[in-house]
Amino acid sequence: MKGWRGFVSKGLSQVWGMAGRVTGVRPGLRILMYHAIGTPIPEDRLGLYTLTPSRFSEQMRVLAANTAIPVRSFADAAGVTQGVAITFDDGYRDGLCEAAPLLVELGLPFSVFVTTAYIRSGDQLYLSPHELCELAQCPGATIGSHGVTHVKLSECSETELHRELVDSRNYLEDLLQKPVTTLSYPHGAVDLRVRSAAEQAGYVLAACSRFGTNLDDRDPLMLRRTDIWSDDDGEIFRSKMDGNWDWMGWRT
Ligand SMILES: [Zn+2]
Repeated sequence: MKGWRGFVSKGLSQVWGMAGRVTGVRPGLRILMYHAIGTPIPEDRLGLYTLTPSRFSEQMRVLAANTAIPVRSFADAAGVTQGVAITFDDGYRDGLCEAAPLLVELGLPFSVFVTTAYIRSGDQLYLSPHELCELAQCPGATIGSHGVTHVKLSECSETELHRELVDSRNYLEDLLQKPVTTLSYPHGAVDLRVRSAAEQAGYVLAACSRFGTNLDDRDPLMLRRTDIWSDDDGEIFRSKMDGNWDWMGWRT
């Protein structure tokens, strides 16, 4: 986050961190949310959502070295009360060429939530269906849905909502020849109607974009995540891991 907003956010996080040190480390599963690694995203004018490969590598090595906080698969998130999970949204092609080789080398499980129209578009920014199959076969990889067209599900009609949830799942299951039961809500746009439609569509775990950790009583279809941005240096990354940015979960 750049400019005054970044300055204010960092300041508030330092205050929150001091409070955290008084009350102790916050328990729960922390789910990290990444987007692209190395490839600029044209619509992302501030460049927030593309980490450099070196910054991403630095963060993954911090996680791999920290044996006190186990790295878990998002697919095993239900009822987990401690640890961290690594997720990617949208289905960028660099997930296969930049992120996956490092994650496999470090033995870190990860989940990729793909928007199926992007995968089928032929756009080089995104994984092709063949590349997605390759990614799905990496040790520790789980593929989930991120809708068909990346619309805000909370703004969809019943018919559109059903199509976004069911068609994306059916397409991925046909392509990968395995069950797809995880979801991340595009734009984090979820309400109770969308949540129950996701359950009816057969999803058992779903991630939103609200900051925070997840305790074992957390609704598995409304899991909180921690957004990681391109300018999160080592200090900010550790601060987010410590929960000092969880105050952002109070935003709408
Ligand atoms: Zn997205």
